[in-house]
Amino acid sequence: MSKPLKKKIAKKPGLRATPSVAAPVTQKTVRYVYSFSDGKADGNGSMKPLLGGKGAGLHEMTRIGLPVPPGFTITTEVCSYFYANKKQYPSELAAQVAAALAKVEKSVGKKFGDRKNPLLVSVRSGARDSMPGMMDTILNLGMNDEVVEIVAKKTRNPRFAWDSYRRFLQTYGDVVMGVQKKVGEDHDPFETVIDEVKRSANAEKDTDLSANDLKTLVERFKRLIRGRTGRDFPQDPKDQLWGAIGAVFGSWNNDRAIVYRRKYGIPHDWGTAVNVQTMVFGNRGDTSATGVAFTRDPATGEKVFYGEYLINAQGEDVVAGVRTPHPVAQLAEEMPRAHKELLQVRSLLEKHFRDMQDLEFTVEDNKLYILQTRNGKRTGFAAVRIAMDMVAENLITKEEAIRRIPADSLSHLLAPIFDRESVRKATKIATGLAAGPGAASGRLVFSAKEAVELAQKGEKVILARIETSPEDLRGMIAAQGILTARGGVSSHAALVARQMGKVCVCGASALRIDYAAQTLMAGKLTLRQGDYISIDGTAGEVYAGEVKTAASEVVQVLVEKKLNPKQSKVYQEFASLMNWADQVRTLEVRANADLPDQAATAIAFGATGIGLCRTEHMFFEGDRIDPMREMILAETLEERKVALAKLLPLQRGDFVGIFRAMKGLPTTIRFLDPPLHEFLPNTEVQQRDLAKKLNVPFERIEHRVEELREFNPMLGLRGCRLGIAYPEVTEMQARAIFEAVAEVQKSGIKMKPEIMIPLVGFYKEMGLQFEIVHRVAKEVAKEQNVKFKYLVGIMLEIPRAAMVADELAKDAEFFSFGTNDLTQTTLGMSRDDSGGFLPQYQELEILANNPFATIDQQGVGKLMEISRDQARKTRPDIELGICGEHGGDPESVKFCHRIGLNYVSCSPFRIPVARLAAAQAALAEKKVA
Ligand code: PEP
Ligand code: MG
Repeated sequence: MSKPLKKKIAKKPGLRATPSVAAPVTQKTVRYVYSFSDGKADGNGSMKPLLGGKGAGLHEMTRIGLPVPPGFTITTEVCSYFYANKKQYPSELAAQVAAALAKVEKSVGKKFGDRKNPLLVSVRSGARDSMPGMMDTILNLGMNDEVVEIVAKKTRNPRFAWDSYRRFLQTYGDVVMGVQKKVGEDHDPFETVIDEVKRSANAEKDTDLSANDLKTLVERFKRLIRGRTGRDFPQDPKDQLWGAIGAVFGSWNNDRAIVYRRKYGIPHDWGTAVNVQTMVFGNRGDTSATGVAFTRDPATGEKVFYGEYLINAQGEDVVAGVRTPHPVAQLAEEMPRAHKELLQVRSLLEKHFRDMQDLEFTVEDNKLYILQTRNGKRTGFAAVRIAMDMVAENLITKEEAIRRIPADSLSHLLAPIFDRESVRKATKIATGLAAGPGAASGRLVFSAKEAVELAQKGEKVILARIETSPEDLRGMIAAQGILTARGGVSSHAALVARQMGKVCVCGASALRIDYAAQTLMAGKLTLRQGDYISIDGTAGEVYAGEVKTAASEVVQVLVEKKLNPKQSKVYQEFASLMNWADQVRTLEVRANADLPDQAATAIAFGATGIGLCRTEHMFFEGDRIDPMREMILAETLEERKVALAKLLPLQRGDFVGIFRAMKGLPTTIRFLDPPLHEFLPNTEVQQRDLAKKLNVPFERIEHRVEELREFNPMLGLRGCRLGIAYPEVTEMQARAIFEAVAEVQKSGIKMKPEIMIPLVGFYKEMGLQFEIVHRVAKEVAKEQNVKFKYLVGIMLEIPRAAMVADELAKDAEFFSFGTNDLTQTTLGMSRDDSGGFLPQYQELEILANNPFATIDQQGVGKLMEISRDQARKTRPDIELGICGEHGGDPESVKFCHRIGLNYVSCSPFRIPVARLAAAQAALAEKKVA
């Protein structure tokens, strides 16, 4: 380590360690390996990009004096190098690893492969952001035919020694040597061997196997490896170590890790670090245990120590959900000393990291070790509660609370719960652990593949597994909810579900799931694939059939006004958080609302205006579509005027309702923008029905529908083109608005509607529409002898408008970015048809996100910035907003803040998310400034 090492790979910005933290190195040295032992560590908790989350946590815990077994971390830079150089390592790495290993050996007084005191290590992955269960881990490395005998003698526990060896062979054979299930095989080959040995030993559980049985197992495993790979399992611990390091780096690019990264937007070039650490054993008999714990409840956020453990078990047993573990409180009775220490560690970790921690511990012969800490994954409920409680406990500031809560997680608080009455009538078939809150109903499926297939057909599915493994990830993403028969609250299913915000019940042990028969049995009841099942992840309950859902507590308080706010802690926390967010955000949040009740919901969620009222949606209900169809199908001006006369009072009535609900808040009304096909009576039945209602021959309707049919309605007679072709339509709408304003103003509400013309591309086009609006405004003002104010503006939805924004801003008093259409027209991708190819585009990383969900900042975003600059040249105070779906997407909201829009507008249920994201954007700016 002392020799200066040549730099071999390009420096990545932000990836290097701060020199003051690492041991002294010369300028030219590249440190690829960071040691931690005996209270000292080369790294620290802030070095996640370089050491990975697990590594940084181990270094930090060592520094603060926690009992961490000594080890070292190989940096993520090595992973980058590995992939950039045909899976080779930097030439300096070997020497650095050897030096770090020597340090560990010295610290623990053991040596790799030693005859007297052999060292065993674990080799574990650890990316910057945790990716639970997605990459590989190898335990008990250093075991071989000689070492196992020495360990057996030293510990006087041959069973333990042989069990450790067989576990090592099993993972090493799988992960490093690739001995895995072949196509057509149902079972993991190692598990098949275990089953055979168990059968011949008459053993029911793994723990029933004797030392001799395990010895047989070891021999069988070695044979299996040789048979499958043509190579012997390596006996030299150093070879084992390098094999394991390579496999862990290799696992960064396994299928499930890639799927996970894609889902959570983790960049593929981050790479993983590798942690090599002295083994401690939770499987050395009844004075040993292994467990995981959260410093607070990750499902509800309650301040209780939450976790579980297994006596005489190792490593992944708890997380894998193979045996259902005991709650951590029970440790107080079984291992009082370790439990007491663990409680001390809990409070120390929370004080130090100032966040809820998820820790792994092992008790070896009554001595406690901490093997990992990281910020715990949590549900939306828990994210809010923990942050709010921590502010009250003076652990974090209000601003930190705002920064910390993922904006999207607020949607958990608005998600439905089961309807009480419906639950009362439902048949409860099992109880399990409440692992992911919320309520979900759907069709029962037993595999990830079926879950994906059925979900693609638009069905809601519940994925039921005996236990889940990382292989089930795709299915879990597709499902509404996840149900397992085995496994605890920190099992893979629970962890992943919580993070995804999926409803999850796990460890429902009364259920018998038979994959082959595709059945789920609860007592005498048998449910089959495709049957309905319902799960309540808040209460941990499972019901047969479909149970109706009801609104969440927040919705019951705010929208339905059925629940007293004082009775809902969730609501109170939500309200405080929103209040804090509103104090820091500068971006206004409006709603996309088309009807009075939607407007009322939007206001209840904190909207300060309507950013988009789609007037054509006012006609989707009941018979209201008839006059609309009549208008569209009219062949002459006279006919159209008759239809418009029917539409006028309906529109006026709706506007009155909306204006009253908005009580003077800004309300943006968009003129008709129907892609005509959405309104045409397309089937013969509909056409005959309409013909009857209008008292015209069916053939006439049929003919007119044919005449109006467009190849590409989204780019056809849409938006203001309709008002250009039929000015009387614009006139009717303007009249409906102004007459409604006049009426509402008489009741004392001062309105200033913002009238928005859609799909504008040309100055003249906009001018012709504005002319009508201004003329009708004057007429109504005169007729009704009232005065009113209003704004006129456009929806900016096509690239041409962006390019001539300076000209448009001469008359337009506001622009609202219709990013649904702006994305469609900029990318030349149909918003309706892109679902077919977008997943592949994301898979191939042509696109990082779905551009119809998150703004394509480089393309569409650039056009928005151009429009802004052009428009403000002409009209510096022009009002700019966004009303496409992106207005409720946190990343897009943040972008809108950065480019200086005045408001975002989104669907009512996304308003809280947008408010929080806007506050986060404002805080991020403050931090930079
Ligand atoms: C848009 O295009 O972004 C928009 C809000 O309008 P619509 O979705 O109605 O086309
Ligand atoms: Mg549009």
